[in-house]
Amino acid sequence: MKQSKMLIQTLREVPKDADVVSQQLMMRAGMIQKLAAGIYDYLPLALRSIRKFEQIVREELARDGCQELLMPTVQPAELWQESGRWSFYGKELLRFKDRKNAEFCLGPTHEEVITDIVRRNVRSYKQLPMNLFQVQTKFRDEIRPRFGLMRGREFIMKDGYSFHVDDADADRGYWEMFNAYKRIFARLGVKFRPVEADSGAIGGSFTHEFHVLAGSGEDGILSCDSCDYTSNVEKTQAPRLAAPDHGEAFPLKPRHFATPGLISTPEQIAAFKDDVHDGLPSHQATKFYLFRGSWEQESEPGDPTKYVGVVLRSDHEVNPVKVKNAVGAGTLELVEVAEAEVFCGAKSGFLGPLPADGTPFATHRAAVRMLVDVSLEGAVNLTCGANATDFHHFGFNPARDLLKPVFTDVRLAQEGDLCPRCGKGHFQAFRGIEVGQVFKLGTKYSKAMGCVYLDEHGKENPMVMGCYGIGVTRTVAAAIEQNFDADGIIWPWAIAPYQVHLLDLDPGNPEVRAVADRLEQDLEAAGFEVVHDDREGLSPGAKFKDADLLGFPLRAMVGSKGLKDGVVELKDRRTKEVQKLKPEAMVAAVAEARDRILKELEVQGGR
Ligand code: ATP
Ligand code: MG
Repeated sequence: MKQSKMLIQTLREVPKDADVVSQQLMMRAGMIQKLAAGIYDYLPLALRSIRKFEQIVREELARDGCQELLMPTVQPAELWQESGRWSFYGKELLRFKDRKNAEFCLGPTHEEVITDIVRRNVRSYKQLPMNLFQVQTKFRDEIRPRFGLMRGREFIMKDGYSFHVDDADADRGYWEMFNAYKRIFARLGVKFRPVEADSGAIGGSFTHEFHVLAGSGEDGILSCDSCDYTSNVEKTQAPRLAAPDHGEAFPLKPRHFATPGLISTPEQIAAFKDDVHDGLPSHQATKFYLFRGSWEQESEPGDPTKYVGVVLRSDHEVNPVKVKNAVGAGTLELVEVAEAEVFCGAKSGFLGPLPADGTPFATHRAAVRMLVDVSLEGAVNLTCGANATDFHHFGFNPARDLLKPVFTDVRLAQEGDLCPRCGKGHFQAFRGIEVGQVFKLGTKYSKAMGCVYLDEHGKENPMVMGCYGIGVTRTVAAAIEQNFDADGIIWPWAIAPYQVHLLDLDPGNPEVRAVADRLEQDLEAAGFEVVHDDREGLSPGAKFKDADLLGFPLRAMVGSKGLKDGVVELKDRRTKEVQKLKPEAMVAAVAEARDRILKELEVQGGR
C-alpha cells in the first residue's frame, strides 16, 4: 500500500490537550482525532489495530463456544426500570426522549438487553449453559473523560454474558472466561496481570480485573512476591497487625496534649509532650475520617444519619472502598472539611471520634456508624483528636470509649506488607490499566427480570449469570502505554496496524523506485502487511522520523547509496538492530525477524 495515498497525517508537535503517551502518540501518528470530549474518530491505522485485537478476542472466545450477536446501542428505559438500575445508575447513563416522549438511554453496558433476549428465547436446562457476546460501541458520560482512548465517553467494548443452571456451573464458566482472557492478553503480547478486584456497584461475589502493567496506569496493584495473590489495592487485604504494646490501660485524659498551630500528623506526634513523654510513636496516635454514605437514595449534605466515622493508626491510610463495603453503602465520599468542622466543633487537624459536648456530633452520636481499623483492636492508651481546636485526648481506648465500634480491615495495604494469604511473601506494587474484567453476577438480573429456565423436573429456576468485558479501544491504547520510546510507538506484532514500513529514500530515482515496488509486491505476496512510503519531496530523515513514530515492528529501507553496493536494509523497531542484505533476501529476512519476535513473546509467556 502506497503511503502517498493513505490517510496518515503525522504531527511533529505534541497536541496541547493530550495528557498521556498513548493519546499523544496516537494523535501524532494520525491514528485518532478528537471530535468532542471523550469522543474520537478512529482513522484507518487505529481501526486496523482495533480490528486485529477484536479478531484475537473472537478467535479465543470461539474456542470456548461463545456466540457473537449484536445488540442495539439505544435501549428503552423500561428494561432498566425492571432491573432497578434506571434510578440507581448515576449520570454516566446518558438518557433522552424520543419524539413520542418515550425514555431511552445509550447503553453503557448490556446486562438488561441480554437478559431480555435470553428470557425470550431460552426455556430449558437442555439449552444451557450459553455464552453470548458482542463487540460494540458503548457510551458512558464519564465525569472526566481523559487520556484519549483510555477513558473515553464513546468506546468499543467486547461484552459477554453467560447463563447457567446453577452456581457451580456459573463458577466453571467464570474460570473458563478467566482462562480465555489470559490467552487473549498473552496473544496480544503485553505484560499483564489478572488481579482480584472489588465487585463495586454491580454486586456479586467474585471478580477479577485484567491489567496491562504500565507506569501511567490509574490503578494500584499489589502482588505477593511468594504466592499468587495479586489484587487491586482497592481490595487488597491488609495484614492484621498486632496491637502495639502501650502499657497498662489508663483512663481517658481529655485534651491532654496541646499542639497549637500544628496540623500535620508527624508534627503533632513529635510535639505530644508531658511529664513522661517527649513525642509519641506514630502507631500510638490515631487519625479520624468522616465519610458520608448513600444507601437507598442519594444523601444530602449535613445529614448525620449518613455519616461514617473511621479511626486508623496515624501511620496507616484509609481505603474508602473497604469502608464503603463494610457499611454496605451504594456510594461513599469524604465529608467536606467545612461541614466536618461544624459537625465536630473544631478545626481540621483536631477532629476525632469522641464527640465534644454541645456539638452536632454529640447530639447525633448514636447515628454515626463508627469503624475502627482491625489493627487497633485491643490497642489502648492512644491519642485522638479532641474535637477542640489545638487539643488531642490521650489514653483513648477504642473498645472502651466508642459507642458500638466495628473493628474491621479499612486500611490501604502497602508495598512491603506481609502477604496475609501465604504469610510468607511481601507485597510488591505495580501500576496497571484495567483492560478487562470477569464478573460472576449470580441471579441479580435473572431474578429481577424473570429470566428463568425449566429444570429436568419441570420446575422454574432463575438462571445464574456471569459477565465479561474487555475494553477494546482502551486495550490498544494500553499496549502503547507499555510499548513506546522517545521516538514513538513500538507496536506489539499482533496488533501493529501494518508489520513492515518500506521506505523509498530516493523516490525520484527510478532504480530505487523499481526495487522498492518489487519489495512491496514480494512482501505482500508473502502475506506481510506493508506501508510503502513512496512520498516525494521528503528527506530520508523525515521519513525515518515518521517511521519511528508510527512504530511498525520492521522497517525496510531502499536508497540509492545502498543500491550502489547492491544492498537494502532491514531495521527492528524495538532493538534498533540493522541488517544489510541483498534485495532478494528481504522476504526471508522479514520472515525470520517475525519468527524471532513471536518466539521472544512465547519465551516471556506473552508478557
Ligand atoms: P473503570 O473502572 O476504568 O471506569 P469499569 O470497571 O467501570 O472501568 P467495566 O464496566 O468493567 O469498566 O467495563 C469493561 C471494560 O471496558 C473495562 O475493563 C475497560 O477496559 C473498558 N472501559 C470502561 N470504561 C471505559 C472508558 N470510559 N473508556 C474506555 N474503556 C473503558
Ligand atoms: Mg471494571
